[in-house]
Amino acid sequence: MRSVAEHQRVVSELITARPAVTVGLVDAAGLVLAHDVIAGLSLPVFDNSSMDGYAVRYDDVTGASVENPVKLPVAEDIPAGRTDALTLAAGTAHRIMTGAPMPTGATAVVAVESTDGGVETVAITATPKPGQHIRRAGEDVAAGSTVLHAGQVVGPAALGLVAALGIGELEVIPRQRVLVISTGSELVAAGTPLRPGQIYESNAVMLAAAVRDAGAEVVATVTCDDDAARFTALLDSYADRTDLIITSGGVSAGAYEVVKDAFGTGGGVEFVKVAMQPGMPQGAGRTATGAAIVTLPGNPVSALVSFEVFIRPALRAAMGCAHPHRPVCTAVLVEALTSPAGRRQFRRGVYDRDSGTVVSYGPPASHHLRWLASADCLLDISEDVTALAVGEQVELWDLAP
Ligand code: AMP
Ligand code: MG
Repeated sequence: MRSVAEHQRVVSELITARPAVTVGLVDAAGLVLAHDVIAGLSLPVFDNSSMDGYAVRYDDVTGASVENPVKLPVAEDIPAGRTDALTLAAGTAHRIMTGAPMPTGATAVVAVESTDGGVETVAITATPKPGQHIRRAGEDVAAGSTVLHAGQVVGPAALGLVAALGIGELEVIPRQRVLVISTGSELVAAGTPLRPGQIYESNAVMLAAAVRDAGAEVVATVTCDDDAARFTALLDSYADRTDLIITSGGVSAGAYEVVKDAFGTGGGVEFVKVAMQPGMPQGAGRTATGAAIVTLPGNPVSALVSFEVFIRPALRAAMGCAHPHRPVCTAVLVEALTSPAGRRQFRRGVYDRDSGTVVSYGPPASHHLRWLASADCLLDISEDVTALAVGEQVELWDLAP
């Protein structure tokens, strides 16, 4: 049997980054920068007021206080957005708003709260410090400096910075385009009454949500019955739009294993047993058209746990993510559990972050989706461990968003 680590390596080598693309800022959100961003401007762009108040020459208002106000004529009114060049003459004040350009010659701003708020003349009732309430050009960003680095995720604040610099596009590593295929002749879409032996299809929406949560794009979710020719035709029809195909079902040891049958032995996909529980039957490789394909087992818990273990980190790494893996931590087990020898087991758990304890949640079998639906971590129990007692430390993958 192949180890989990070995199959992780195979899948991560299969899923490779797409060439960088230039996109508008809205579409760059959440993606990883492919290049450094260099400021073409300084920020602030020009000296401006950080308060609503009055621009003054410091020398004109020294000694101003409530008891001894200094009265000055108000020569100009400067709202934010005024674009003409102004000079403050000695012995006068300009009324000025937050973000408005400082007039030449002004050496401080007196906040409106320290004045009578006059329009024709103003009484200044406090002495400012020299340079008070002036935001200097370039004090945040100097033109020519590198403000963001290749490899950084474009988060909301990074987008704000870039927009403030007047940049409208960024070069980023694009999302992986993923096709999700469910296989099985027993699968029926919601809304159709079930006939005996049929079940509702549930892997597609689940895996598609996991793909999006990983930051990738879902090209389509489709269901295919256990007919190898139809399955192959489906792959071909999406060949030009897909970087990765994820299938579920049809890879076990029985008959009617459509995914295995479609590729045959010696095809582009290698089908292996991985020493894990759940999720032993796995496959990975390339389709005839060169798209990466990872074939997951059909049991819903196996499918989602396999996605977590093999595909999620590989997708995130291929999108440039510096930390593609879930946070791993250790917690104290509050109930005993057993684990099969020779298999790395991923048990569903509920993690109490306050007490640092974890309880395993639901049976280990791979069809108990209900428990996974309310779990918030995976207990990672290594191959050589067969039993864990109450109070022992266990490693877990934190799945909390
Ligand atoms: P398979 O790997 O195709 O043998 O499927 C294993 C088990 O998972 C069977 O009980 C299937 O009915 C079930 N299964 C496979 N695919 C899906 C799916 N997309 N939705 C729900 N159950 C599935
Ligand atoms: Mg099947």
